[in-house]
Amino acid sequence: MNLPFRTGLGYDVHSLVPGRPLILGGVDIPYPLGLAGHSDADVLSHAVADALLGAAGLGDLGRHFPDSDPAYRGISSLWFLRDIREKMASRGWVLGNLDGVLVAQKPRLAAYIEAMEANLAGALETDPDRINVKATTTEGLGFPGREEGIAAYAVVLLVPREGDHGAAGL
Ligand code: MG
Repeated sequence: MNLPFRTGLGYDVHSLVPGRPLILGGVDIPYPLGLAGHSDADVLSHAVADALLGAAGLGDLGRHFPDSDPAYRGISSLWFLRDIREKMASRGWVLGNLDGVLVAQKPRLAAYIEAMEANLAGALETDPDRINVKATTTEGLGFPGREEGIAAYAVVLLVPREGDHGAAGL
């Protein structure tokens, strides 16, 4: 089945705790709380990873990089994205575009968005203009509003690698 493109959706949540760095889109953001998790708990990169894996028909992040594996303890989640980009490419797909949303009451993230986009573009070996990241609050509602955690959504479009007309094996 030679599809001209494929889409994927990713969603992730991590809880905010003391004593952890706050890393979003590979950017280390100065803040008294950080995200709990086995890796660097970069919730945006995890949502992006799941969106990419979903679009490529490759399952999800936990299947490829189980948090029971000590090799992934504290690892930069950008590493996951680099690995997933290679898996996608080997199946003939590259990123068309990516749109992500961070849901956080605090801290304000606007100043870091451009750096997140640059990091994601670097890990995915694509042009930053294919990457868009947004941030929103929930107006104080729910777990993000209570500052218990941060959520992220991502959608991606994959397109055939140049020269590939539809990905083989999909
Ligand atoms: Mg996660």
